[in-house]
Amino acid sequence: MKERDLPVLVHELIRQGTPEKTALIEKHSRYSYAALQETVDRYRRCLYARGVRPGERVGLFCRNSADFIFAYMAIASLGAVVIPLNIMFRPREIGYILSDAGSRHVVTDRLLELASAELNDSDLPAQHLLSELRETAPAYSHHPAPDVPITPEDPCVILYTSGTTGRPKGAVLSHRNLISNARSYTETIGAAEADNYLCVLPLFHSFAWTCCVTTALLNGATITIMEAFQPKEALAMIQTHGVNVVTGVPAMYGIYTSVARPEDLAGVRLFVSGGASLPVETLNSFKEKTGQPIVEGYGLSEASPVVTFNPIGRTKPGSIGLQIPAVSVKIVDAEGRELPPGEVGELICQGPNVMSGYLGLPQETAAAIRDGWLHTGDLAYKDDEGYLFIVDRKKDLIIVGGLNVYPREVEEVLYSHPSVKEAAVIGTPDKTRGEAVRAFVVVREGMALNRKELMAYLRTNLATYKLPREIVELEALPRNATGKVLKKELRTYQPLQ
Ligand code: AMP
Repeated sequence: MKERDLPVLVHELIRQGTPEKTALIEKHSRYSYAALQETVDRYRRCLYARGVRPGERVGLFCRNSADFIFAYMAIASLGAVVIPLNIMFRPREIGYILSDAGSRHVVTDRLLELASAELNDSDLPAQHLLSELRETAPAYSHHPAPDVPITPEDPCVILYTSGTTGRPKGAVLSHRNLISNARSYTETIGAAEADNYLCVLPLFHSFAWTCCVTTALLNGATITIMEAFQPKEALAMIQTHGVNVVTGVPAMYGIYTSVARPEDLAGVRLFVSGGASLPVETLNSFKEKTGQPIVEGYGLSEASPVVTFNPIGRTKPGSIGLQIPAVSVKIVDAEGRELPPGEVGELICQGPNVMSGYLGLPQETAAAIRDGWLHTGDLAYKDDEGYLFIVDRKKDLIIVGGLNVYPREVEEVLYSHPSVKEAAVIGTPDKTRGEAVRAFVVVREGMALNRKELMAYLRTNLATYKLPREIVELEALPRNATGKVLKKELRTYQPLQ
């Protein structure tokens, strides 16, 4: 695709595929590019008739479905701004975001009980049920709606990031941010028209939106949508619909490893993992079981999200790969000086994919973007070939008696023990050493936790100051929708006295 032919605006993407080609597949329906374009246009007209105006911020609370994509594109093509909402949010959390964004409208797949939440009755946004839009949309085919001039710099979406402390912040991303990132990702994975992407990650998160939807549409490819992750159903859809690009979070690959047979996945050309670190153990057991590699990338909402990716065919286990085209990455010390290979510092990045800032938060924006570089809060190092390795989140670093303990390193050792299915490590306050290490483990089915034996194993693999003072057994680790372990919740754990 030539540079000048690229659609710079998100809503233009729906014109990229040949009209009769299948753009979207969901359980019982298929939509061609022509149908996608027509439906988005009807939803756009319908939303305009219901009072949505250019420049407005419109909440979108919807499970994964073709309707999510239609509604998103319809809002964007009206020149309004999409506020995707995590479907696991409760009314109080939704209320906070809608009020922070000043939204007067929310498009939703179920009626929300917002009245008693963060919003007063007087500022309750109008709710537009997708089922109603779907039913009434045909009547709006010719309803007037303005063709608003949108520039690539206009905001397209505001992503409220998980944020481990305080209230969520809205990262403002423009049409250019999103398209440029999908363009870089296209080059990185060699995306092509013949591709069919399994879209099972939540669409409200930028990982699925950019790496599945935007990239697929940009290339006139097909998206196979699943509402939620059901491993057996996912494997069936991969086969039935000829999916050849699978995108997931590490925990999903752990599950595929236990349920998939090599022949189930034989037609897949690329398995992508991101959102959280992929334990080397998961990568190896997936390879052993299915004969296929997983390619790991890294990103964050504020960067639309992709920042680095392993070059296909030249991946390094445990690495998040190299900076992707158009994006620059540096590892810096606390004073902002670039560090040589092998030294751990903060990963910072720059490029057309980086947000303009957090909505209404100039101080937080100035702290995150300094001299044009986005400070990610992730600690990492580069090897001699430029491959990057995430060591941990800056705020998850544990300091024991002045020595740095990176939870990721302890977790990797725990994962390599045969009885451990999942592991997470945090720091707890300690009177003498400042902090102590606490490990949480989930034990494999049919096995029992032998703390003594596990500690002996850790002792042979880790320096003494990195050893957990305590190992807590859990039935499952608390995770968010993109597979990240909620360390915030683990920190509230109170041991029995
Ligand atoms: P979010 O904005 O919700 O996408 O979260 C972004 C954060 O997820 C990053 O700042 C990292 O801490 C983490 N993350 C994403 N991908 C990876 C990865 N491959 N390895 C380790 N951490 C990751």
